[in-house]
Amino acid sequence: MAAIELNDLDRRIWDEELAGFVPQRVFDVHTHIYRWEFYTAPDKEQSSYRQFVSKPFEEASWRLLDECDHLLMPDRQVSRLAFPFPFAEHCDFAASNQFVAEQVAVDSPSGSLMLVRPEMTAGDIVAAVRKYCFLGLKPYRFYSQTGDAVNCRLTDFLPEHQIEVAHELGLLIMMHLSRADAIGDDQNLADLHRLTASYPNAKWILAHCARSYSAWPIERAGKRLSELSNVWFDTSSVCEADAIEALIRSVGPDRVMYGSDDVPVGVLRGKYIAFGYGWAYLSPTNHQLNLTHCDSRMTFTRYEQLRAMRQAALRRGLSNEQIRAMFFDTAADLVATTRSAL
Ligand SMILES: [Zn+2]
Repeated sequence: MAAIELNDLDRRIWDEELAGFVPQRVFDVHTHIYRWEFYTAPDKEQSSYRQFVSKPFEEASWRLLDECDHLLMPDRQVSRLAFPFPFAEHCDFAASNQFVAEQVAVDSPSGSLMLVRPEMTAGDIVAAVRKYCFLGLKPYRFYSQTGDAVNCRLTDFLPEHQIEVAHELGLLIMMHLSRADAIGDDQNLADLHRLTASYPNAKWILAHCARSYSAWPIERAGKRLSELSNVWFDTSSVCEADAIEALIRSVGPDRVMYGSDDVPVGVLRGKYIAFGYGWAYLSPTNHQLNLTHCDSRMTFTRYEQLRAMRQAALRRGLSNEQIRAMFFDTAADLVATTRSAL
């Protein structure tokens, strides 16, 4: 079974809107490499993960990512920053980390991040970084020591002794913020302000536009966001042009990087939509809309994200050079700098 197939709707969106926008060289900073078998929950077949980790995505290898990119962004040369899938609770961390490190080794500009949980000691992390050449850490809120993945603070799932290791080795930290208001949350901003100042050699990537699926969290953070040093942002799975435009306006285009959230999120059909102070994943199986008046088919999340990036770039009047930086140069530099310091 092919993982994905393009139809006439997808091709038209690519040809008319995206082919002229996406540069030839791409550095995708947000990709997941994993095997379904690394999720070790006894009831895994009934879990919510099963809805999107379907059969074709059970073995999310480098090759599968290449296949998806080849289909969705033909003729582009893609390097990646990759990390495991953070399965909640029952996750084989050792196998997950070994697998991603091995898979990424085929492309020398690419790099991998280590999936971490708070219980890991500084020694555990340093040893794995040395063994597998990890360029940084991928914590996740599901592993919060408070047991509350929604309202936890950053240091509840990325304790300070781990940030200290990142500082000492100059590592990247891929941060998916918690709490309902994400970067619009005073506590998160205060924590980031303090931690970036105390550990200035750690390099943060705030995933999903600092987890802003619309403009308001970025506008609420305002100057405090642009004042954070050693912080970058990825656009993965953000499908609202307003959010990406607000981010570029707030922090400048040179700190914003393309990420796909492959696989599977980027290559599933649907779109993250924002409303009020919320957002949700709209997909063919998650809506009750009456759609008799239009072509009701949905395209890939990735295409909706690229459309939003294009609109944001148009509205901000980005040059071709700035667009190339957003898709490649900034990430390539960040990854190369991190690697050379290790
Ligand atoms: Zn992700």
